Amino acid sequence: MVSRHASDVLRRFSAACGQPINLPIPVDRIAENFCLLDTLWEPIPEPPDHTVLAGLIPARRLVVFNENRRLLYDDVAFLERTVLAHELGHWALHVDQGAALTESLPGFDPPMNFVCRQDSDTWEERHAAWFMSHLLLPRNLLVEHIGKRAIASLSDIYQLGQDCQVTVTVMQIALEQMGRAYVDEVGRVHPSRQEYLGQRSLL
Ligand SMILES: [Zn+2]
Repeated sequence: MVSRHASDVLRRFSAACGQPINLPIPVDRIAENFCLLDTLWEPIPEPPDHTVLAGLIPARRLVVFNENRRLLYDDVAFLERTVLAHELGHWALHVDQGAALTESLPGFDPPMNFVCRQDSDTWEERHAAWFMSHLLLPRNLLVEHIGKRAIASLSDIYQLGQDCQVTVTVMQIALEQMGRAYVDEVGRVHPSRQEYLGQRSLL
């Protein structure tokens, strides 16, 4: 299971640094010091009408953020952390790490194996998104953090996003999956999707 891979990375990182893992998850340190991945900003060409946020060059252990989308990263709080965790997902789940590193031949520019489009729905992209969600928001820690507080409005979800340093969208999807909140089409927050659908069927 993808979520188990994410918790395995967190568990091994925690053991390596001799500290318990807490929210917000230190994804920069996990990428740099534990997975030994570098990061770089560089323009990445995009197909027409598609947004590419980042890519991964396994042979160079390199995550490339798309310089052409710098404004989007500036606009969306914590997008960089979210994308980095997504690329870690590709690295942990989809890359044959031993083979990738031996493919690095001198004088040969290794390919960007994962080019992450915002609208892509391939199984690899979905797996990386799921990994990211569980890496940045381990469900046990999130449940503990929420405690007994009510999640009744979008600003509550924004606040939780701030606390955990994830985008609002990532927080919203996690809460929906956990059955802790559901945001309807007009932005109203319900206790859960089931409850919302139940209310609608009564109308
Ligand atoms: Zn991706």
